[in-house]
Amino acid sequence: MPATPTAVSHITAVRSTAVRSTGLHGTRLSTRTQIALAACACGGVSAFLYAVDPNRHTVYPQCLLYNATGIYCAGCGATRAIHALLHGRAIEALHDNALFVAALPLLLYVAGFYALAAWRANAWPEIPVDGRALARRGISIFLLMVAFVVLRNLPGWPFDWFKPVPSGG
Ligand SMILES: [Zn+2]
Repeated sequence: MPATPTAVSHITAVRSTAVRSTGLHGTRLSTRTQIALAACACGGVSAFLYAVDPNRHTVYPQCLLYNATGIYCAGCGATRAIHALLHGRAIEALHDNALFVAALPLLLYVAGFYALAAWRANAWPEIPVDGRALARRGISIFLLMVAFVVLRNLPGWPFDWFKPVPSGG
């Protein structure tokens, strides 16, 4: 049966909708572009942290807990630790935030592994979430952070070693 003019115009309309939706989809950034932009952002932040010493400049956000109470939180000194690491001063970085420095290789490994898998597939991989395992790990990490906070806020030697140098923030 030959296509009637109405059927032809209907097909054209469907086709143009399909082309338009492909066009809209095409404007989204590809996964590789997103990874490249994230890498550029990390590079930019690292260059800034290398050049601008957190021990001498107050351009960095200050720790609210330390400013209000004088208590070092688990994150206190992390910015200074990155600055020290970028300058190759590992011991100073450990003084600044030993927990962060210890966790950094694992964080970089997981981020790198995930980014590499996403780059290869040009799509973000689906991560199967096991709620119980995630909760157990979350609790373990939280307890570790609480222990670190208690440790670094105790007075005297050897606890002073875990306080950021020279002051909090
Ligand atoms: Zn803090």
